[in-house]
Amino acid sequence: MAIEIQLCTKEQRKKKLADSELVFGKKFTDHMFLMKYKNNEWGTPRIVPYQSFQLDPACAVLHYSQEIFEGMKAFPHPDGSVNLFRPFENAARFNLSAERMCMPQVNEDLFVKAIVELIRVDKDWVPHSSQTALYIRPTMIATEKFLGLRASSEFYFYVILSPVGPFFKEGFKPTKAYVASQNVRATPDGTGEAKTGGNYAATLHETCIAKNKGYPQVIWLDAIHRKFVEEASGMNIMFIIEDEIYTPPLEGTILKGITRKSVLELAQELGYTVHEEKIEINEIVDQIDKGQCTEAFFVGTAASITPIGQILYNDREYIINNLNVGKITQNLYDKLVGIQTGKIDDKFNWTYRVD
Ligand SMILES: *Cc1c(COP(=O)(O)O)cnc(C)c1O
Repeated sequence: MAIEIQLCTKEQRKKKLADSELVFGKKFTDHMFLMKYKNNEWGTPRIVPYQSFQLDPACAVLHYSQEIFEGMKAFPHPDGSVNLFRPFENAARFNLSAERMCMPQVNEDLFVKAIVELIRVDKDWVPHSSQTALYIRPTMIATEKFLGLRASSEFYFYVILSPVGPFFKEGFKPTKAYVASQNVRATPDGTGEAKTGGNYAATLHETCIAKNKGYPQVIWLDAIHRKFVEEASGMNIMFIIEDEIYTPPLEGTILKGITRKSVLELAQELGYTVHEEKIEINEIVDQIDKGQCTEAFFVGTAASITPIGQILYNDREYIINNLNVGKITQNLYDKLVGIQTGKIDDKFNWTYRVD
């Protein structure tokens, strides 16, 4: 499983941005990991200079979206080390997505090793200011050249790195969410549980509607009854009702978020009661009106924990906690980010040292 490393030349090296200039996902580091699949096997794993692909216009990913990805982050710790957060969880989920999309499995140790080695090579790119991190995007695409509906027999597995600032420009401030009124994101027995491109393409139309009304996020409802809350387009969702935590259960249409899982584990450790239950949107807005749903937030790698201050549902706006960050949201955020950034003792053993 030795990874070949080809470093870029001095001329190929890119100019870095100051931490304060970083936004989300626009700047990429000097190197990438790349491994190709052909004739039923993976070829040599390689770290190479960051580069464009030459893809045939007929290759399968461009027509039928046979594609999967992951999203992870590496954080610098006060001791100078760089640490991943539960990377084997991402490796396992990547293979779950691969299975659903008829793509080959990637050895989970190699998946993590590829990321570790790549970060070592591009270690100078890890930003150090608060709210910044090195975002990691493992991806697999179908590269076989043919038109016709069947699984590809050739694939690229690659990993790119992006130094990022806060996901939301405003930072840790309540965001606004629009409850989907026209489209659905995922259906029972569909691909909702896989991190595959098509799921995100399916969110774009409703997201445009929401943005035009001033809401950056969409809250999706279940496809059958159009009343149970599912999640956002790239984040899971939680509500605080009478000081207890509620989140929808994982039943195939919701992505199995690692942040979701971690926040639930952390919350129990902190003594909160957590409920994984189906939640009706009508129930939620009722509870907001009655002052019993006092906090709501999104959870995911990219945006960490993001409080929700306003929800637009059926043309009515519901304000949560007077647009302030709630105390449970803040507590969970402080603990989660504290562990990720090495400021709080990691008794769960979630952090994984890169160097
Ligand atoms: C990636 C993603 C999440 C969050 O998963 P994490 O493992 O916490 O990053 C939630 N929902 C969707 C639809 C996602 O794509």
